[in-house]
Amino acid sequence: MARAHLFGTPVSPGIAIGTIRFLHVEAVPEMRRILPSEVEAEKGRLLEAMEAVREDLKTAMGKVPADMQEYREIIAAQVEMTRDPKLVNSTCQMVEQEHVGAAWALSKVVSQLVEVFRSLDDPYLKDRAQDVRVVGMRILNRLSGASRTHASDTNLILAAEDVSPADIMDLDVRSIRGIVTREGGITSHTAILARGMHIPALVCVTNLLVAARDGDTVIIDGLGGNVLISPSEEDTQDYSRREKAYAAWQASTRDTARWPADTRDALRVGVLANVEHASEAAELSGVGADGIGLYRTEFAFLKEVMPSEEELFEEYATVVRDAPGHGAIRTLDVGGDKLTRAQEAVREANPALGLRGIRFTLHNQDLFKSQLRALLRAAASSPEQGRLRILLPMISMVEEVRAVKRLLQEVDQELSMRGIAHAASVPLGIMVETPAAVFITDQLARECDFFSIGTNDLIHYLMAIDHNNMRVAYLAEAMHPAVIRSLKRIIDTGHREGLSVSACGELSSDPFGVVLMLGMGIDALSVSPPFLPGIKHLIRQLDAQACTELASQVLLSSDIRACKHLVNEMLQKVLGHELAFLTSTVMGARA
Ligand code: PEP
Ligand code: MG
Repeated sequence: MARAHLFGTPVSPGIAIGTIRFLHVEAVPEMRRILPSEVEAEKGRLLEAMEAVREDLKTAMGKVPADMQEYREIIAAQVEMTRDPKLVNSTCQMVEQEHVGAAWALSKVVSQLVEVFRSLDDPYLKDRAQDVRVVGMRILNRLSGASRTHASDTNLILAAEDVSPADIMDLDVRSIRGIVTREGGITSHTAILARGMHIPALVCVTNLLVAARDGDTVIIDGLGGNVLISPSEEDTQDYSRREKAYAAWQASTRDTARWPADTRDALRVGVLANVEHASEAAELSGVGADGIGLYRTEFAFLKEVMPSEEELFEEYATVVRDAPGHGAIRTLDVGGDKLTRAQEAVREANPALGLRGIRFTLHNQDLFKSQLRALLRAAASSPEQGRLRILLPMISMVEEVRAVKRLLQEVDQELSMRGIAHAASVPLGIMVETPAAVFITDQLARECDFFSIGTNDLIHYLMAIDHNNMRVAYLAEAMHPAVIRSLKRIIDTGHREGLSVSACGELSSDPFGVVLMLGMGIDALSVSPPFLPGIKHLIRQLDAQACTELASQVLLSSDIRACKHLVNEMLQKVLGHELAFLTSTVMGARA
């Protein structure tokens, strides 16, 4: 194929050179008229194909390696999709009423369903359009008798409209070097899979299906967003060099991950992990985490059935047992863009400003008390006192903290009366993430034991922007003086009142945020585990005194661009070419 330079959105960092292998046979069925007497047989063919795909997917599910268990859930959702009444009934109806072939009817129904999902605002549901497409494509392939690609080559770069976990399980995982897709978004399976497999991936690659053919040599650049089809010798050498330099940087940050994060002038900064599944806790010492700064408890509650207290206890006890240091477990933070089934039924006009986080749990005290009981019980499961900490989300009033303390007392009494082992009290902290909390940090500090700054929400609420609205995305500006001053105020007030202050939003893994918050005296940064080695490496290159001087300059300035320039200068000075590696690692993996 001719040489071509395409562009895409990197969703998993790194560079890979290999042979392109297209997944899925593109099946665009022809419209075929059938006789009324053929309707039943045609429907039978369809149901058989669906059954066969269901079995294929179940086989793929059985092949998911132990360290990739989350993909089982994705494949399980696709298994369910093969029996989705909308998909099955609508297709059968079309065959019956319009006397058309099953393949044609199915492709029409799949297109309609894809459009319905795509039109939804919620980015998670929007991305579910790909489950419908993947399942639809598999059934169509079955109906047409086409077999899927079973490639045996090594150094494969998978290419597709979309890649789903079951596709990967059909292949030899170790032979896959990278993924490129024409479709996909920030939460697409491609992105999740590639990050889990630590291979580069780009989505939304324009012209991919036109410019590339099976067997072409391709370079994919998950650091810069380039895709080079049939590259020149010069390009191949250049990218091989970059690939090696990046791999060496990754290896060296991983090798030093367990070293403490001490700045050049010997200031120790805690580096903690943001975690969402209990099973991740055991792996944290490998990436050098000092503990868990934020354990998000939402996942157990977003399933069909509410979790029991016993299940929650097991989950939190695992976190405390396996975490390398303390574990700050945040109470349920649903609402906003994270809705439970119950909340979906009573949609609020403005959920981000509605019954979210602590507001929701204080309004649903049975559920909240079950979580608090599980937490106090899990705290006692560790012989070391204070390993489990409770963190409260979305606090905007002192009364909310007091109400939680009252509930904790009630729960303590209940558990004592029932003779159940538990901790009578645990360190209690709050997320500082609403503008109201920023202004009453002194009062809040007297009610709790530690602060954790939720920079994601803090920036959105301070700047009054809806984070799903791309038109105002430019205002999500961490260097805005309102954000900078808020951070300073939270850290200073917390320290004055004797509290430790950490930060757990994305700004903690943004090199700019690291420099500034370190300069303001933050005690610890809590980041997603893959970023930990790189962030610790950065901290070790910084001089805390120089960061403090820089933060003071930034605090006095109203010129955001000039401030960014100053911070960038310092980062360039201390990291040089490594800055690009760090930035793309953090940005790619975050997407
Ligand atoms: C935050 O708001 O910064 C945060 C860490 O919480 P979440 O992203 O879970 O709302
Ligand atoms: Mg938050």
